[in-house]
Amino acid sequence: MESASRREACPFDGKRVTGVEVVRDGKLEQFRAGCEVVLSLGAIQTPKILMQSGIGDSGQLRSFGIGVIQHLPGVGANLQEHVLLAGCVWEYARPDQSRGACGDATFLAKSDPALATPDLQAFVANGPFLSAELSGQAPAGPAWSITPGLVRPQSRGQVRLTGAKHTDPVDIDLNILSQGADLRATMECVRLCREVGNGAAFRSLTKREACPGPVGDVELEAFVRNAAVPFWHYGQDGPGRPVGRGWQSSRLWHRRPARCGRLDHAECDYRQHHGALRDHRRALRRDTEG
Ligand SMILES: Cc1cc2nc3c(=O)[nH]c(=O)nc-3n(C[C@H](O)[C@H](O)[C@H](O)COP(=O)(O)OP(=O)(O)OC[C@H]3O[C@@H](n4cnc5c(N)ncnc54)[C@H](O)[C@@H]3O)c2cc1C
Repeated sequence: MESASRREACPFDGKRVTGVEVVRDGKLEQFRAGCEVVLSLGAIQTPKILMQSGIGDSGQLRSFGIGVIQHLPGVGANLQEHVLLAGCVWEYARPDQSRGACGDATFLAKSDPALATPDLQAFVANGPFLSAELSGQAPAGPAWSITPGLVRPQSRGQVRLTGAKHTDPVDIDLNILSQGADLRATMECVRLCREVGNGAAFRSLTKREACPGPVGDVELEAFVRNAAVPFWHYGQDGPGRPVGRGWQSSRLWHRRPARCGRLDHAECDYRQHHGALRDHRRALRRDTEG
């Protein structure tokens, strides 16, 4: 299949996916699956194809005139993205100190010592790393930055359709920092980064802290919201969420592709654990061989 091809929809036999439909050179082509269909189009495009193929929240599908094959409200839900801040900037003590790139040094930390694993990650970067909202804060001289980040967010967003056609874009609502815990943890990360950046180890490099400076909690919250930029780590997560069962994309960490081929759609759900996936593959093999 040419990489320029677009996977448009999944044809069905009842509730069973039988292949994929592709528009190539302006023509619709169908490919029949020999064993199974694995959708692995990333966290945004995978739910789009599922929904436009009739698998998703029935209300949303019907509102776009899409026939419902399986009501599965988790499709498109539970979208998550790490939080990255572009705004903690220091001016070099001397212009000739500027060197290095982005991400030469990093650290992981916990916003709360009671956490089992770190939820914060920051990088040291050369240059003034500032969001569009904070671009006016760039110092006149060469600068360096620390980029606070939240890597275990609780906030969840949603991918929604805007239409039934493959050319219709999706509505992506990352909804980051909507949970108070995420906001508090991210503010804590800024405090930590300021402590590091203003600490003794960096003193010889630093003329002054350009941004955000010693602000109070209200200003710090505004700073966090203005400094937030994409981390390009979006994905969709697992079972047991309030929106119910769904799918997941094959992205970071232990994510699994949405596997639909020889499964009924009632089973086309998350395969979170290796064991479950292994069992599933065994069952598939039995199914194929039998
Ligand atoms: C700038 C940047 C830096 C990153 N840095 C890191 C990092 O340092 N560490 C890290 O772990 N992660 C990093 N990531 C995130 C990581 O790259 C992604 O999370 C990961 O690639 C997602 O994998 P995926 O298979 O789900 O989706 P993708 O890699 O996006 O793969 C989806 C594929 O499906 C194709 N596709 C989509 N729609 C269709 C369609 N309709 N028909 C046919 N094909 C289609 C796309 O062209 C693409 O090739 C970074 C991302 C970016 C953008």
